[in-house]
Parts: sequence; C-alpha cells; structure tokens
Amino acid sequence: MTTVTPLFVCLAVFIVGLLVGSFLNVCIYRIPRQRSIVWPASRCAACERPLAWYENVPVLSYAALRGRCRTCRMPISIRYPIVELVTAAAFVIVFDAFGPTPLFVVRVLFACAMIVLFAIDLEHQLLPNVITLPGIGLGLLASLFLPPGPLMALAGVAAGGGLLWLIIEVWLRLRGVEAMGFGDVKMLAMIGAFLGLKLTLLTFILSSLMGGLIGLFVVVSRRGGMSTALPYGTMLAVAAFIASVAGEQILDWYLHLYM
Ligand SMILES: [Zn+2]
Repeated sequence: MTTVTPLFVCLAVFIVGLLVGSFLNVCIYRIPRQRSIVWPASRCAACERPLAWYENVPVLSYAALRGRCRTCRMPISIRYPIVELVTAAAFVIVFDAFGPTPLFVVRVLFACAMIVLFAIDLEHQLLPNVITLPGIGLGLLASLFLPPGPLMALAGVAAGGGLLWLIIEVWLRLRGVEAMGFGDVKMLAMIGAFLGLKLTLLTFILSSLMGGLIGLFVVVSRRGGMSTALPYGTMLAVAAFIASVAGEQILDWYLHLYM
C-alpha cells in the first residue's frame, strides 16, 4: 500500500487486537485441555477463582498485578501479555497490508489461528485438529470470493499437505523415524487453503530456512541436541504469517535477483 494508515486508526486496530489477543489466551489454555472456550469466564489457572473485569484488562492487569494472582499470589504466565501484544501488533501489520477490506478480515483471522497454533505447539508439541481441519474448510470457502481463488487454494492444500506427507513417508523409510507429526501436514494444508500454492511453497521454504538457522545455532552453541530445537509448527506459523502479509513482495524481490 502506498498510503500510510493514520495513527488513530492504527491505535484503534491495536486495541481491538489486544482484546482479541485476550480471547486467544483463553483458546491457547483451554483447547489442549479440551475445555470449552466460551464457558466459564476466565479464572486464575492456579486457584480457579473467577477473575473480575479489572483483572482481565489486556496487558494492563498483568502489569498492575505484577504478574501474580491477587488472592493466591501464584505467578501468572508471561505468555498472557505477550500473546496480547503480539496479536495487537499482528492486527496493525495485517491492516497496514490490506486496509479495511474483506481480505483483511480473512487474513487477520488466519493470523489469529497461527498465533494459537504457535503457542500450543510450543507448550504441548500439538497442533489440534479442531483448529487445522475447520481452518482448511474456512480457507477454501473464503477463496471462492477472495484471493488466491479456489483453484490456487485447492492446489495449496494439495501441495502443502502432500509435500509434508511425502517428507514423513521418505524419512520413515530411510531413517525409521517420523520427521514430523501429521499435525504439521494438516497445518500446512490449512496454510495452503488460505494463501494458495505460491505462498504455501514460500512458507515451506521460509520455515525450512528458520529451522536450519535455529538448528545451526543450537549445534554451534552446544545448548543441546536437535531434539531441543523448536517444534516445526512454530516455524510454520511464523513463516506463514510473513508470507501472508509480505509474500508477494518477497517473491518479487527474489525473482528480480535473476533478471
Ligand atoms: Zn489464584
């Protein structure tokens, strides 16, 4: 986009992002524990006391309470304010890329899914089907009306899912171990449904580069074996977000290197 988004619009989008981030925290905590994300209201994870509204204000409550529950004094995970701030930043970045358009709504929803998958995979090494499978359907549905269009979205699902599936099969035959889980297969298929073939391949390349760099860092710094590296879903999430907001620019830049 050539025009710069006015500051007060950015601020409004940021605040909405903080509130949505607060809801994403609920999803991140409850989905792997198979609890409802709508009921009951937020509670302290340690003493289960329901939280008052003023204990539930994004970022500010955490700062005011100095990261501890008001009654049981148990520490509140730093994940809460981080997820809220990251979600707010993602809202502003996606808004700046797409403006007030239907594509903004779809891509911001996609960004939220990536944030939730990142956090759950980091903590539980798990990419829940209740996110990835409806995600594939939702991405395909949106592609009927918006970019990348239904054909490219279907190609993205097939290529994204197929590629990782192939890697698992080949690795299993060669090494006798699973290179990654089928959660990753479904996640890249979902990314394919939202972003289409081209940006899905870009996501795969970016995530592999990230994995390589982090693996190299781990080996060089001798902080442990490859098994202590980040789960692959976290890198897929970051790579897919980058591809969703700047993928076309990255591809343009890359192709111009050869012209
Ligand atoms: Zn408590």
